Amino acid sequence: MTTTSKNFPGVEWVKATADFIQVDDGKCSGCADCIKVCLAGCFKIENGKARVTNLGECMECASCWYICEREAIIFSWPEGGAGFRTRFG
Ligand code: SF4
Ligand code: SF4
Repeated sequence: MTTTSKNFPGVEWVKATADFIQVDDGKCSGCADCIKVCLAGCFKIENGKARVTNLGECMECASCWYICEREAIIFSWPEGGAGFRTRFG
């Protein structure tokens, strides 16, 4: 079995009511830096632009937002009670 954030011991993921990470197509260059930095595999490139395809594995680390030199990642924390949670909070 592949270990992901969902099945890692002590981790649970509660679906948010809206996508809390989006890509601004007008700014995205398709450089794929977000793919390289995302340990959860949340992105892929389609038609030369980054797409969020797997937000359910997101660990809310914000690395994608930080690495994107084009400021194409629109990042907002999920609402309280949703998203990634460990036994530590
Ligand atoms: S790092 Fe930014 S510019 Fe590069 S593919 Fe990802 S969203 Fe697009
Ligand atoms: S916040 Fe972290 S885990 Fe979530 S999509 Fe961005 S790089 Fe991946």
